[in-house]
Amino acid sequence: MIKAVRGFKDILPGETEKWVYLEGLARKFFSAYGFREIRTPILEKTELFARSIGEATDIVEKEMYSFLDRNKESVTLRPEATAGICRAVIENGLYAQAKVLKLFTMGPMFRHERPQKGRLRQFHQFNAEVFGSHAPGVDAEIIALAMDILEAGGAKNLRLELNSLGCPECRPVFREKLKNFLLARLDKLCDDCKRRAEKNPLRALDCKKESCQQEYKEAPLIEEFWCDTCRRHFAQVCEELELLGITYEKNPRLVRGLDYYVRTTFEIKAKDLGAQDTVAAGGRYDGLIKALGGPDIPGVGFAIGVERFLLVASLPHDLWPGLDLFVAALGNEARRFVLPLVRKLRGRGFMVDLDHEGRSLKAQLKAANRQKARYTLIIGESELSEEKALLRNMKTGEQKEVSFVSLENELIERLKKCSS
Ligand code: ATP
Ligand code: MG
Repeated sequence: MIKAVRGFKDILPGETEKWVYLEGLARKFFSAYGFREIRTPILEKTELFARSIGEATDIVEKEMYSFLDRNKESVTLRPEATAGICRAVIENGLYAQAKVLKLFTMGPMFRHERPQKGRLRQFHQFNAEVFGSHAPGVDAEIIALAMDILEAGGAKNLRLELNSLGCPECRPVFREKLKNFLLARLDKLCDDCKRRAEKNPLRALDCKKESCQQEYKEAPLIEEFWCDTCRRHFAQVCEELELLGITYEKNPRLVRGLDYYVRTTFEIKAKDLGAQDTVAAGGRYDGLIKALGGPDIPGVGFAIGVERFLLVASLPHDLWPGLDLFVAALGNEARRFVLPLVRKLRGRGFMVDLDHEGRSLKAQLKAANRQKARYTLIIGESELSEEKALLRNMKTGEQKEVSFVSLENELIERLKKCSS
């Protein structure tokens, strides 16, 4: 038997309804906040990610699904959405259409990590990106959007952590200080952090090892190095969040895995998730579009991890309500009679199914129950000759005769009532 690739999961009926439900919620809020959908390819040139995410990051160093295609070109299954969206914005000149561009997307991402609870090799994200605004209000707005989506999905015990990573003006000073701090205690750090110390000291702060985190308790804090602009920006984001009624915690040690973040950076964590507790993360990446060969326009965005969202969501029971109607036609004549009726009812949006196997009434009623049908319409030889059908309420077992003349209308009325 051929099995799925490790870390790649099927999403089965029973689960898919939950996905569609959360996607629907997300779409509703994206649209309410004025975002429009973009769909970019899952495969991009490797160079795009190497340049945007940064060479000394976990993703680029060890997590990318990269391979040579048949033309010996290096391509990569996207590990995140922002890079591809930026490429598409530049390539299609989208920034010319609007001063502020609000885009969202949803779909699979790929990272070669160790699969565990809340960590897969193919996982999914809801992403939002805003291009063209430096305003701190936009940072607060996208945080509100992420919170709204998560809260509408019933996620509880969320904690919003907020920080600023400074900007190209002030971050280099901090980076130098942090680097020296790390180099001074190199022997106590894990191998990853030893490498990060030189290449990407900020990433060390994001290390998942407890022993490293112990060491970093004494590390210099970025907030002590913020320039005036960064300080003001951060204060305004906080103020706007307060106006929006969103509770946050400042976390001066919060850094993000991707190189391109500047100023605002945030994570939304859920208490009940255990080790992989970050449901959503995002921030500002003002230099990225330019670094990718586009104009100098700022950007800010977030990603919600859908698998983790599902772990903390409280969803309505019975997202698959079952059939409105099962049609049990017994014999060829009856089948001839019901086919156009079934098509009409389906055309009106009712969930209707029927037997194609010519099975017994008993077997068909069983099938109706399995599909959670609310009603079953029974038409056999005697019903045909009397021009009456039997309509059975599957919950109560009550049966009612309905004359063929009024059958269609009666069904529409009944099904309307039960589906509302
Ligand atoms: P982590 O610290 O958990 O590795 P990250 O910093 O690599 O996360 P981001 O690149 O910020 O994650 O991705 C945003 C969100 O996507 C995460 O907060 C998480 O919800 C989700 N996510 C990231 N990687 C995975 C994965 N391998 N499996 C499932 N969800 C993931
Ligand atoms: Mg990661």
